[in-house]
Amino acid sequence: MDASAPDDRSSNRSAIHDAVVVGAGFAGIYALYRLRKAGLAAIGFEAGEGVGGTWYWNRYPGAACDFESIEYSYSFDEALQQEWQWTTRMARQPEILAYLNHVTDRYDLRRDIQFSTRVVSAHFDDATCLWTVCSDRGHRITARHVVMATGCLSTPKPIEYPGADSFKGQILRTAFWPKEAVDFRGKRVGVVGTGSSAIQAIPIIAEQAAHLTVFQRTPNFSIPAGNGPLSDDEAARQKAGYADLRAREWDSDVGICAKLAPETRKALEVTAEEREAEYEKRWAAGGLYFYCSFVDLLVDKAANRTLTEFAQRKIRAKIKDPAVAELLVPKDYPFGAKRICADSGYYETYNRDNVKLVDVKSTPIRAITPEGLKVGDTVHALDMIIFATGFDAMTGTLLNIDIRGRAGKRFSEHWQDGPRSLYGIMPSGFPNLYITTGPGSPSVLYNMVLGNEYHVNWIMDCIEHLARTGHRTIEAKPEPESAWRETVNAIGKMTLFGEASSWYMGDNVPGKPRVILPYLGGFRSYKQACDTEAASGYPNFEIA
Ligand code: FAD
Ligand code: NAP
Repeated sequence: MDASAPDDRSSNRSAIHDAVVVGAGFAGIYALYRLRKAGLAAIGFEAGEGVGGTWYWNRYPGAACDFESIEYSYSFDEALQQEWQWTTRMARQPEILAYLNHVTDRYDLRRDIQFSTRVVSAHFDDATCLWTVCSDRGHRITARHVVMATGCLSTPKPIEYPGADSFKGQILRTAFWPKEAVDFRGKRVGVVGTGSSAIQAIPIIAEQAAHLTVFQRTPNFSIPAGNGPLSDDEAARQKAGYADLRAREWDSDVGICAKLAPETRKALEVTAEEREAEYEKRWAAGGLYFYCSFVDLLVDKAANRTLTEFAQRKIRAKIKDPAVAELLVPKDYPFGAKRICADSGYYETYNRDNVKLVDVKSTPIRAITPEGLKVGDTVHALDMIIFATGFDAMTGTLLNIDIRGRAGKRFSEHWQDGPRSLYGIMPSGFPNLYITTGPGSPSVLYNMVLGNEYHVNWIMDCIEHLARTGHRTIEAKPEPESAWRETVNAIGKMTLFGEASSWYMGDNVPGKPRVILPYLGGFRSYKQACDTEAASGYPNFEIA
């Protein structure tokens, strides 16, 4: 299809689509699949040139998922599960992107998606009960339902320092990584940021570049990923146990169960030896298994301290220079209150002669100069600067779209003090508008592929309920929406998340309201609330 102009089908002003799906990552692809399966006419819009979402944009070296791919993959079709063969335990970006392309083609979904097209507005018409969705390429689509499958980590933060245009070298951003190979050989490279993206990229860049300078504001806790090839035997064994694995994931709070079951005890009710053994086990398992360790770790400071101290010891032991170790060991927030990272040789990288760590918390970055980065009064000379500075997470992407609901109500006003929507899925005053893995849902704290599947399933039940009962619109009632928001905030306050400066709380974006963004009550209680709502005929929603 010609990518430069809207095709006839999509720009046909008279046709009413059943649904518009914005975004073609894990959520959007599955939403299009379900809508097609239900016999509904849907059209997808995707800003990128292809499917994949996160895995389309984030092509930086080392990008990979941080738990087993057998789990970080769709569960909806047993045939798909059995036929796809992962080659790496935690697949790298090219393999995940290949998988999502495979899924798109397997179910012939590509023809429903307009690529290189950004949705700029979605307006609801009270008289017709229809949405008009417009794109930056001139589409104007009328639809009954709008599914915002726009992603939680899909709007990278801008470069926050002046002088980028003056830099004589190359500036790159992990979240907009070029498709062409990037050659670090012989270059003096600077990486700004030490979150998950940087932590994956740094060891690989250090091996190739002449010199690497890492500009760190806040150190993170990172666990060895323990990644490696997946043998055919192991893959066959995993596939044979798929049904059981999926059942356990759906019945868990974090959705990661392949290697270790969630712990049900409290850290402070076991002996110090038992605690140490539990931590050693999860450290060895690799990746994110600490999220399902002792149940009190993220609510009880004393319990958390036992794990924080364990992780600090582990990190310190990896770094030869004690002064560098002191900078790399997180000390001023509880383990887990910022996103846990997973790495392959991250801390060890600082033992290399060609790597230098610069603390930009004590002396902040001031500007980008023609020669490099100016920190305080010192210019660090660089040929390439890589910004791995994160995202306007969970709210930024939606707030970039001009969404207007009943009586022209602006979405940006509805969310001006922080996000509000019932179950994180539907904001009141915006009928038939659905958000996948949005704020107010477990979202980024549950296996995100399954979280997206769950939301799409719930949304499809909703759409099918309307069709079955002869109704046209469904929207959250304002009171239950407020109550849900209070629940999310109250649970957030019971945890230690507020003790760190993190994107979970909106802290990483200047001026963003400080509220807990994901629902922290765990997926099981969340699922129960959403399932009960649907099973009892949506009592907290207005159906008209
Ligand atoms: P996305 O994949 O973000 O897709 C949303 C799409 O919507 C994007 O392609 C975007 O271009 C498009 N879009 C947005 N706005 C518009 C618009 N206005 N018009 C048109 N298109 C639009 N989660 C895990 O559970 N495990 C992991 O290991 C993991 N690793 C990650 C690694 C990285 C580098 C990042 C950034 C995130 C990672 N995540 C991980 C979170 C990841 O975002 C989710 O797992 C998942 O890929 C999200 O899928 P999605 O479809 O919800 O959103
Ligand atoms: P991030 O976790 O938000 O990290 C951004 C880093 O940049 C932080 O170290 C931050 O420091 C720093 N930073 C931000 N603005 C800065 C500034 N103006 N000056 C100096 N430093 C600045 O972003 P990310 O690494 O892209 O990861 C985002 C999320 O995506 C992760 O938390 C995770 O959920 C997901 N992800 C997962 C994987 C994976 O392993 N599968 C990989 C990548 C991403 P502060 O902490 O001080 O703000």
